[in-house]
Amino acid sequence: MTALARDPAEPDMRRGACPALSAPMMTGDGLLARVPLTASIAPEQLADLCRLAMRHGNGMIDISARGNLQIRGLSETSAPRLEAEVRAMDLPLRDGLAVEVPPLAGDEATEIVDPRPLADAIRDRARDIKGLAPKMSVIVDGAGRLTLSGLIADIRLVAVEADSEILWKILLGGTEASGRVFNVLRETEAIEATVSLLEKLASLGSDARGRDLASGLPANDFTAATISPFTLHALSNGTFATGLGPAFGQTHAGNLIALCNEATRLEISAVKPALDHSLLFFGSETACRTLTAFADGNGFVTSAADPRGHIAACTGHPACRSGTIATHEIATRAASECADLLDGSFKLHVSGCTKGCARPQATALTLCGMPDHVSLIASAKASGQPFASIAFADTNATLRRLAALVGSERRSGENSAACLARIGPDRLCQAAIPG
Ligand code: SF4
Repeated sequence: MTALARDPAEPDMRRGACPALSAPMMTGDGLLARVPLTASIAPEQLADLCRLAMRHGNGMIDISARGNLQIRGLSETSAPRLEAEVRAMDLPLRDGLAVEVPPLAGDEATEIVDPRPLADAIRDRARDIKGLAPKMSVIVDGAGRLTLSGLIADIRLVAVEADSEILWKILLGGTEASGRVFNVLRETEAIEATVSLLEKLASLGSDARGRDLASGLPANDFTAATISPFTLHALSNGTFATGLGPAFGQTHAGNLIALCNEATRLEISAVKPALDHSLLFFGSETACRTLTAFADGNGFVTSAADPRGHIAACTGHPACRSGTIATHEIATRAASECADLLDGSFKLHVSGCTKGCARPQATALTLCGMPDHVSLIASAKASGQPFASIAFADTNATLRRLAALVGSERRSGENSAACLARIGPDRLCQAAIPG
């Protein structure tokens, strides 16, 4: 059954529901459709997508943490029209299983190998496997500098070099750090093993995920460092890419159209939605630097040091009807008032409700809107056990007190995530609710 076949009075708020283009998901501000691009497009094409978002939706656009473009505020009648018009644009759209590669795959001088041929082979072989979980994902990572190591994958293949030979480490479930090692194989064997794993998962039913096959497997003993997309990237062909993004992954289509128009004026040839709610624009160094300055002046995140990039905030109130707090307003104040706390060692999660759309994983500190208060949660997901409950009006003041505690307690060389963990929930609670 597609989302459109559901009773609209019964919004599908399950975690795991996939808001694909042909099966948009009901959210608090209407249907949400994903435009799953598999390659870069021209800035003019992105501007055209934005115009469709304004015509058929409420004009709000998300770039998700996995780098998916999402169009919000669609209705039951406008969603099929959007789909038809997007398909008529002849964009590189994904059909079938999500087999993802890093956004600079094939363009990074430092990657061990271009992962795209392996990803293509897996995508082709998986085409006939029916019954996989809707959000099943395979990541194929050539181990460059900009990796997908922080994203959760059911099956992950990471290139490794051993005795001058390129092998693929296959991990099941979790991020690259938390996944379990299934095997390390040559390319042909890695494709066969991945297809067998997918067939096994399909045979277990559409709820089965990679982690279900991981029990008893060893932990991953090596995870390469990754860089932020929000910087200027020198590419192997002598050109550049610059990473920019809307604050908290969401903006009005009009802002993106202005950015795309500037990119076109600068003769920037291509743009690709990418991880961490970013957009990578490809062009000359001068064009990329000029576009970055334009984006900075227009409120986009342009640097890894921007504290807004260290906050995961969902749509929240008022756009999402499940949200009880104005997540973006709280997050904007937090970024300006608590920049020291937001040092990049963790994502502060500001969630409109316990569903935790913006951050499925645990994090060091979460503010979660509840029907009559805000829960504070440490080292857990939004649905985790709170260490304190506060009034809505005290949210930012409480966060300032917690930031001040971390500032005064931080040891030399200690980052905010480690300091929060060391302080622990009891003392965090005392700081949150003084007296
Ligand atoms: S987590 Fe945020 S976006 Fe998701 S349902 Fe709750 S309020 Fe809405």
